[in-house]
Amino acid sequence: MYDATYKIVIFGDAGCGKTTLTQRFLTNLFKSDSKMTIGVDFEVKSLEINGKKIKLQIWDFGGEERFRFLLPTYVRGANGALFMYDVTNYSSLAHIDDWLVVIRKELRAEDHFPVIVVGGKADLVDEREVTGDEGINIAKSRPVDGFIESSAKTGENVEETFEALARLMMQKSSLL
Ligand code: GDP
Ligand code: MG
Repeated sequence: MYDATYKIVIFGDAGCGKTTLTQRFLTNLFKSDSKMTIGVDFEVKSLEINGKKIKLQIWDFGGEERFRFLLPTYVRGANGALFMYDVTNYSSLAHIDDWLVVIRKELRAEDHFPVIVVGGKADLVDEREVTGDEGINIAKSRPVDGFIESSAKTGENVEETFEALARLMMQKSSLL
């Protein structure tokens, strides 16, 4: 028995690391050969936070342009979201507003869910195009609820990312 089941959607440009982050969280493995996501996949993982059993349904959206028509269906019923960009690719962060419009436009204000901005591939220090401060500043000036940098390669902040979102969703549903 679960105290809550939450649907999480992950969105952001193709190649920024959404599938790899999800797989790392699920299996604790870094898969360097993640295939291009076709349409939408979803995965399930259980967490325990403050003695509450939480089931996360993680929907990984294939960020390709030709699948964007699926986005409204994908977002429907979501309880929380990760907006992911790649710290080695400035344009993936610059697209944040396009993505936020897409996910918010289908929603009534009362259905708004927490969104965390995730700067992925933090292990690639030599290829970085976005500093942590730039990421934080952009996140602070947008209607989002958090910011974190992570690496699916080293595992840094992978669990923390999903836990932080789980906590926000629990607060919203008065479980925390
Ligand atoms: P998606 O299109 O957003 O799902 O991106 P993928 O998860 O398919 O990742 C795109 C590429 O980035 C793949 O070659 C991954 O191996 C690589 N990648 C993903 N996450 C990381 C990371 O944390 N560090 C490094 N160095 N590479 C990563
Ligand atoms: Mg993918």
